[in-house]
Amino acid sequence: MLGILVRRTSIPLRYLQFSFVRHLMIHTVLMQSRLCWAGHVLCMPDHWLPKKLPFRELQHGKRSLGGQKKRFKDTLKVSLKAFNISYNSWEQAAMKRRKWRAAVCSGAESHEANRIAAAEQHRKDRKSSAFKSPTAATILCPYCTRTFRARIGLISHLCSLRDRFSQPQDD
Ligand SMILES: [Zn+2]
Repeated sequence: MLGILVRRTSIPLRYLQFSFVRHLMIHTVLMQSRLCWAGHVLCMPDHWLPKKLPFRELQHGKRSLGGQKKRFKDTLKVSLKAFNISYNSWEQAAMKRRKWRAAVCSGAESHEANRIAAAEQHRKDRKSSAFKSPTAATILCPYCTRTFRARIGLISHLCSLRDRFSQPQDD
């Protein structure tokens, strides 16, 4: 059984080549191969073990509240959402093998494009904030002439003033 699962989950050579040519991130490649494998398993007869394992639920016991270990169904849902494929209709789509493969490939490309755009935007934001001139000091101390750029600086200054004046005088 384990041998079957390992063989079924290993990434086919054509997807590895695809990933190297297109330079997909490993995260995207994993999601892509997960969706391809799910579509492949879906076409199997219901009584086959590889289909029974990921899509069935136990009859007894229940999942506890709070953080859960993710099931295959949960990670599949995340992958479908990332690739812009509807969770409600993916099973019908996966039955048409050629269209399903095309949908997964285009989903991977769009996911990768979104990821690259988000990373570039994040980098641009980080660079622009790093070279931004510091804001002017506008917060005034009510007791002296010092000014502060952030409220926390004023609070720290007031604490040091309070400590200085609350100490007992020696003379
Ligand atoms: Zn002051």
